Amino acid sequence: MIIILKNGTPKPRVEDICALLEKKYGVNTHPIFGSESTIIGLVGDTSLIPVAEVEMIEEAERVLKVQEPYKRANRKFHPDNTIVEVGANRIGDRRVVICAGPCAVETEEQILVIADAVKRCGATMLRGGAFKPRTSPYAFQGLKAEGLLYLKKARQATGLPVVSEITNPAQVDMFMDFVDVIQVGARNMQNFELLKELGQVRKPILLKRGFSNSISELLMSAEYIMSGGNTEVILCERGIRTFETATRNTLDLSAVPLLKQKSHLPVFVDPSHASGLRRLVPPLSRAAVAVGADGLLIEAHDNPAQALSDGAQSLDLDQFGELMKDIARRAAFEGKAVG
Ligand code: PEP
Ligand code: MN
Repeated sequence: MIIILKNGTPKPRVEDICALLEKKYGVNTHPIFGSESTIIGLVGDTSLIPVAEVEMIEEAERVLKVQEPYKRANRKFHPDNTIVEVGANRIGDRRVVICAGPCAVETEEQILVIADAVKRCGATMLRGGAFKPRTSPYAFQGLKAEGLLYLKKARQATGLPVVSEITNPAQVDMFMDFVDVIQVGARNMQNFELLKELGQVRKPILLKRGFSNSISELLMSAEYIMSGGNTEVILCERGIRTFETATRNTLDLSAVPLLKQKSHLPVFVDPSHASGLRRLVPPLSRAAVAVGADGLLIEAHDNPAQALSDGAQSLDLDQFGELMKDIARRAAFEGKAVG
């Protein structure tokens, strides 16, 4: 349930109303002081709260039942875009933020070379996996803590904030020290114990859509994190599994405007894992910008042919530079800046 308050309701009065609602109905309240209006979101079992009774509150302009199961992630609760700040990046604020780097951190030198190159091309965040959830137990599993250390060194050398994937709640402390954004991969989108743990941390979470999960399930996973108190969630469309086998996954571009209508959270697109094919990364990146993506997660490598994972979808550094020029043109067309 949400209560839209009359314009100009003073903050202390909003707090009084929240206290009253919590006491009377045993729910949690979330006041949002937006640019246009002040809203109180009620979370908990609101099914038995009589709307007519809440409408009696003098400052209540409108009372609405929120049908969707996600509340804190719902745009009805928070009409303005959420802006997630990561270093100098303002994700969700009419910009296209480019996060690029290798699928996996392989050596210290490799991540330093790539970090430097993607920064020079205009990327403002660095990606790199240290704990790799691979389909085969015999495939490269990542450098783990050592990989996170190299990422930290790359951040020190370039100033780029770093994003890396967590696979287990026991890694949270380590990630708090080493990364700026914690990535939840497609395979863990519904690892609810992990999501609950990440609800307790104060660090942005990049939440990737599971390859067999609906938009509503993605928003419910965001809700898990947000209900714990961590409201800094970035959603990421990375392709879903369909009957089509010509690409690694099928990029669901309609998810981008849909998510932005349903939710106030920023939305990234990962054209690399969506397609699995290097030559499709530039056109899918352009399409993602056109449908309103707030950022792109792109795999780039100094030597894709020798990459220990996902070489076929990784751009080399020259290709990445070309793509950045293209993205800047497309972003300008949408009235957005890159970075
Ligand atoms: C990744 O970004 O490195 C990754 C493994 O992606 P996904 O979880 O989308 O497969
Ligand atoms: Mn990868």
